Amino acid sequence: MSTGTVSFTGAAQILRPPRDGLDQLRGADLAGQTLAPGGLTAVGGVIAALEPDPRAGLAVDAHGCAILPGFIDCHTHLPFAGWRAGEYEQKVGGVRYEEIARTGGGIASSARALRESSDEQVLVQSRGLAAEMLAAGTTTFECKSGYGLSREQELRSLRLAQALAAEVAQTTTSTALLAHSVPSGYTADTWMDEVERMLPEVLAPGGVSALDIFVESVAFSNAHLERMGALAAGAGLALRCHVEQFGGYRSVPVALAAGARSVDHLATLHPDDVEPLAQADCAAVLLPAAEFLGAEHRAPGRELLDAGAIVVLGTDANPGTAPVVSMPLVIGLAVRLYGMTTREALAAATLNAAWTLGMARTLGSIEVGKRADLVLLDAPAEHVAYRLGHNPVELAFIAGEPVYVRDERAAARIGLR
Ligand SMILES: [Zn+2]
Repeated sequence: MSTGTVSFTGAAQILRPPRDGLDQLRGADLAGQTLAPGGLTAVGGVIAALEPDPRAGLAVDAHGCAILPGFIDCHTHLPFAGWRAGEYEQKVGGVRYEEIARTGGGIASSARALRESSDEQVLVQSRGLAAEMLAAGTTTFECKSGYGLSREQELRSLRLAQALAAEVAQTTTSTALLAHSVPSGYTADTWMDEVERMLPEVLAPGGVSALDIFVESVAFSNAHLERMGALAAGAGLALRCHVEQFGGYRSVPVALAAGARSVDHLATLHPDDVEPLAQADCAAVLLPAAEFLGAEHRAPGRELLDAGAIVVLGTDANPGTAPVVSMPLVIGLAVRLYGMTTREALAAATLNAAWTLGMARTLGSIEVGKRADLVLLDAPAEHVAYRLGHNPVELAFIAGEPVYVRDERAAARIGLR
């Protein structure tokens, strides 16, 4: 971590929450965010003042830039092995995911690829994706296991996530997605027995902060979600869950009763479940890239926002349903598909995502005392959604250190040429 002083001057916009100390933004607080011009100073990797310091060791010329908190991608499936481009062609041709899964594709195909790849092959691919994510402004991301489909490979997958964490610039978290697909030789029930048996070994090395489960006709049921919730509570971990992606199973009330930190996907969320979710301290994690690329149903993003939910955006980066790592692209899709404002989408991609990962006290917003994870955009913040497909990130900082410099113009901003 830097111990020096970094000063940012002349920004056209700096995204700030309506008040300091908010762990997440919902309801009226979303519109209360400001995008005023100004500067800021970081000392020792932490934001120290909301004004520039002329004596700083590193002066960053932010003229014309918007300064945002670094994006936080709270739903990815890194590390994984290989891709599944053939399945995308099938899907575009009208084959449904359940059918692809039942014929050996889907998660089982990525599990085969993981098994057949060396650790180094998996890490090479994942490092490359982490670099792409950094270039698109992601300064923190979640890793998930879930392509192991055996005790041994799930443990390996979590070890690989730890190895990746040590190698990349970003901060990462580790979620054990122990119930992703039912491994061959098991029923959903007997696999959950196995999950319960393996849990001490999964948790022993430390580093896992959440348990996750996929509730779907081809995977696990609400009863298994309830059981995973009890395991998470017993271990003092957050419960995350993939729910209401394809079928509608009314999993949200079950997740809320189990104390879930987040319910992810929600493309087929039942209208009666919007209000209870909006009242709860549970994040509604929307994954518009998966919805768009899979021609899925559309989550009721606008309804959730209007009801006061903690709405969050993530990429769902994975080789099957969302081979997408760009948060600016996800923000662009979300604004159009759900009818979100720029401010709503930016909160969903920063502070609310930090809350989902349990990191809102130190990350996710531009406040004195928080870590100086920042991105400088080449245009006003509204352009993130508007210029769909354009990457607006010129510079990315983690703990006050420049970790991504896009081009010569960006280099000149920090005094390099
Ligand atoms: Zn996912």
